[in-house]
Amino acid sequence: MRRILILGGTTQARELAQRLAGRSDLALTLSLAGRTANPAAQAVPMRVGGFGGAQGLAAHLIAERIDTLIDATHPYAAIIAANAAQAAQTARVPLLALRRPPWVAVAGDRWREVADAGAAVRALGDAARRVFLALGRNDIAPFVAAPQHHYLVRSVDPVEPPLRVPHASYVVGRGPFGQADDHALLVAHGIEIVVCKNSGGEATYGKIAAARGLGLEVVMLQRPTLPAVPAVATIEDAVKWIDHALVPCADRQV
Ligand code: NAP
Repeated sequence: MRRILILGGTTQARELAQRLAGRSDLALTLSLAGRTANPAAQAVPMRVGGFGGAQGLAAHLIAERIDTLIDATHPYAAIIAANAAQAAQTARVPLLALRRPPWVAVAGDRWREVADAGAAVRALGDAARRVFLALGRNDIAPFVAAPQHHYLVRSVDPVEPPLRVPHASYVVGRGPFGQADDHALLVAHGIEIVVCKNSGGEATYGKIAAARGLGLEVVMLQRPTLPAVPAVATIEDAVKWIDHALVPCADRQV
């Protein structure tokens, strides 16, 4: 029985866990940071909360006799990704990152790429606009610096306390969000500009396609730089990598 720890909090992590859940040769644990109040049901045992930095994660890997670490966190979760790389090295545990490729702008897209939320605030300009903030609730605080805009905020959990700006409304939802629903949302709120992360994948692409259809500008937060570790983009390739990693060296076909 090989012990696998999946660092999760993403749709891909949940899908990978589901895919491996029935395997009798694997003992899986899915780890969540604890960002959402009621996380989606998972197919495998879960643990919730930080490890205490890279050292804490290394100690956990050793104490729990983890054979393989999978970093399937969000592409903007740069701290845990760096911790995973360092902890895997310290504990001498193989590490694989499961990383969704970023979305790429296509004809009709009007993206403006910015480095961070502060730059996104500046990109909105001085004149009041109707803004769809699809950043999650943890990254919207900088927008209080631009109280002239009307904000529509979407997040998994309610934003508590609300953003301290005069004009904000909120929509709570976990997704996936399709193009037709996001089109209707943008139209209903008279949205003029969208602010989001380049999460990649299907589940949150609806707003990108809807913005394109409506000719709206999208302020796209750039992805952070992540550590250079072995990485795959799909669940299929992650499963293949795990199977290969589990085969004893002498039995491997080269
Ligand atoms: P982070 O900034 O990389 O990590 C912060 C700390 O959270 C880590 O140092 C670690 O604490 C703990 N942590 C993170 N992921 C964990 C996991 N899977 N299991 C256990 N502990 C974990 O990550 P973040 O704060 O979660 O997110 C950073 C960015 O990614 C934000 O922009 C956030 O909105 C985005 N994000 C988006 C989604 C999504 O599904 N849309 C999900 C997650 C994150 P210790 O150091 O104590 O171990």
